[in-house]
Amino acid sequence: MQTRVAKVSKDTVDILNEAGALLRSGELVAFPTETVYGLGANAFDADACKRIFEAKGRPSDNPLIVHVSEPSEAENIAYTCPLYYELASKFMPGPLTVILPKKEVIPPEVTAGLDTVAVRCPENEIARALIKSSKIPIAAPSANASGKPSPTSADHVYNDLNGKIPLILDGGACKFGVESTVITIKDGKIIVLRPGSVTPEMLRDVCETVEIAEAVKKELRADEQALSPGMKYKHYAPNASLYLIDDKYINFVEFTKEKQKTENCAVMCYDEEIPHLENKKLLPVGKKQDIKHQTKMLFELLRQADNLRVDTVYAHLPNDDGESLAIYNRMIRACAHRVIGGRNGEG
Ligand code: AMP
Ligand code: MG
Repeated sequence: MQTRVAKVSKDTVDILNEAGALLRSGELVAFPTETVYGLGANAFDADACKRIFEAKGRPSDNPLIVHVSEPSEAENIAYTCPLYYELASKFMPGPLTVILPKKEVIPPEVTAGLDTVAVRCPENEIARALIKSSKIPIAAPSANASGKPSPTSADHVYNDLNGKIPLILDGGACKFGVESTVITIKDGKIIVLRPGSVTPEMLRDVCETVEIAEAVKKELRADEQALSPGMKYKHYAPNASLYLIDDKYINFVEFTKEKQKTENCAVMCYDEEIPHLENKKLLPVGKKQDIKHQTKMLFELLRQADNLRVDTVYAHLPNDDGESLAIYNRMIRACAHRVIGGRNGEG
């Protein structure tokens, strides 16, 4: 199959209509959102959704998020509750996904047989225009090959899915760069299943009790049931071995400078550290305090690390709270919990 890449804006109506028609006819279309690029299919069409799993090589027990163009369209696919609308008034459209009891119309292929469905209303104007033009809810996981970092540009999608899907809509770089915050509602409480740009602190404005699922920070025990199937999978792993350095206990610059002398390694450093390191295979993540920029760069840099063909990658251990929690969650899984230094590490 030939994969076409089309540059789009919310005003390129012809291309958006063409993409909408492709989706309605059961084809797959990759499209930008404010989090990462999504690989979309008609959420009412089981065969189309099966094709998502084939194209990505995604395990069939990992359910898809269904995208709507207005928060109220959740009614077409799920049973909502007052807290959903309180969340919607504050965070939608935006990078928040809410798990709700599903309605019959959503086929089990979308939800991996669960009786709940993940609902999200993206804020990206191209994504919303596409959903509107297709006139259907769009099931869409991240548009990467399974096991690769999520794509934050159309190039990333092309590298992973060229030849497997007919159309990629190129809307430029994603605003946030990590996938949406996924939450579930239980007895009036919110449980964060996957951290994203809507932080637990922000959610506390709407709901008194916000818990963070244990698997967000820790490895799931072998006997433990995943609240969200995605928690089971070792996402985002670069080919090289990634190590996180707890810089509260280890001098990052001295440590990585030594490694640069003896190992074929890449170093994900802060901009401020660049002048103090050997000028080779550096992957600057941004300024130390600029968590938003570090979040936006995360998956791009993990992809670059693969392209450098190094044996090891060293990076700072991110903080595990606030805006940093989303980075922490991805990095701790990408490094298979290999941490060097005191906090929860090897050394
Ligand atoms: P992706 O769209 O690739 O970022 O992955 C979607 C994430 O949402 C995965 O981690 C899924 O496990 C999670 N998810 C989707 N539907 C559900 C659901 N019904 N219950 C719990 N988690 C879900
Ligand atoms: Mg994904």
